[in-house]
Amino acid sequence: MSTRRKALAGNGRSDWYKRMNTTSPVSDDALTLRFWGVRGSTPVSGPEYVEFGGNTPCLEIRCGDRLFVLDAGSGIGPFGRSNTEGLPQEIDLLFSHLHLDHTAGLPFFKPAVFDETRTIHTYCGNLDGACATEALDRLFSPPLFPVSLDVLPCSLKHHGFKAGEPLVFADGSRVGTILLNHPQGSVGYRFEHAGKRLCVISDIEHTDPWPDPALLAFVQDADLIVYDGMFTEGEYCRCAGWGHSTWQKGVELAKAANAKALAIIHLHPGHTDAQLRQVEADMQAMMPASFIARERQTVDVGAPSVTSRPQLALALTA
Ligand SMILES: [Zn+2]
Ligand SMILES: [Zn+2]
Repeated sequence: MSTRRKALAGNGRSDWYKRMNTTSPVSDDALTLRFWGVRGSTPVSGPEYVEFGGNTPCLEIRCGDRLFVLDAGSGIGPFGRSNTEGLPQEIDLLFSHLHLDHTAGLPFFKPAVFDETRTIHTYCGNLDGACATEALDRLFSPPLFPVSLDVLPCSLKHHGFKAGEPLVFADGSRVGTILLNHPQGSVGYRFEHAGKRLCVISDIEHTDPWPDPALLAFVQDADLIVYDGMFTEGEYCRCAGWGHSTWQKGVELAKAANAKALAIIHLHPGHTDAQLRQVEADMQAMMPASFIARERQTVDVGAPSVTSRPQLALALTA
């Protein structure tokens, strides 16, 4: 092992982190999560964004081999390109909400969008029961976008629901939902599979008092909470009312809920790798079982496994 590899392998991460992070084959009992975009608000690129990545939110969630896609930010492009095989014919895409950073990648989800045999079901729960049709038709139409989505070969079927009601799918799958405090609202999701529990809570601005009792009940005893930590507490005072939260509030929520682990997403577009590594160290001093999510990182929720950090692997081969 080279000196550099040793330095990276021994960078102080806990055994817990190594157990949670994996690209190993998973069993039917596994609940896995892969982050394809963890940046908030707008994509970024450049040498200062290599480790955590620059794509906006897209999460691949698999309950066994049952796929859910959460949000269609720019990260859905590389997700699709990395899964030309193995995507189901019917894909369930759950929107947290329809802001640009969570929708703009949709026409670039090539394996699905350019396959006339595929159906993409979208689920929108923050518009009081309305589906995403009207908003997406407005977003993807000339002169803002060259074509409307109805020219795409795939079938798009849009479903609306009211956040707070569970989503129940034709195959019997069930996903819990909750309305979050965000401009025009946002939806948090709770996935349960084979005794494992994953809650994704983004985009959200924390409230006073905190944690909100309904949210606390929703995320209770999660194996992993994925939380909007766009700001630090120091930055938040200048950004109150913008609809986002801090990693410190994520730690408070996770501890109060008896959650086993916490991941932070919706990273500020101005936060560099060096800043985020420092934030992560500060956060782990308060809650060792926590981390800042990295693009393409895979987490085996609630199960032991091995470390895989694609960005570091790239760095090692550079
Ligand atoms: Zn957002
Ligand atoms: Zn938003």
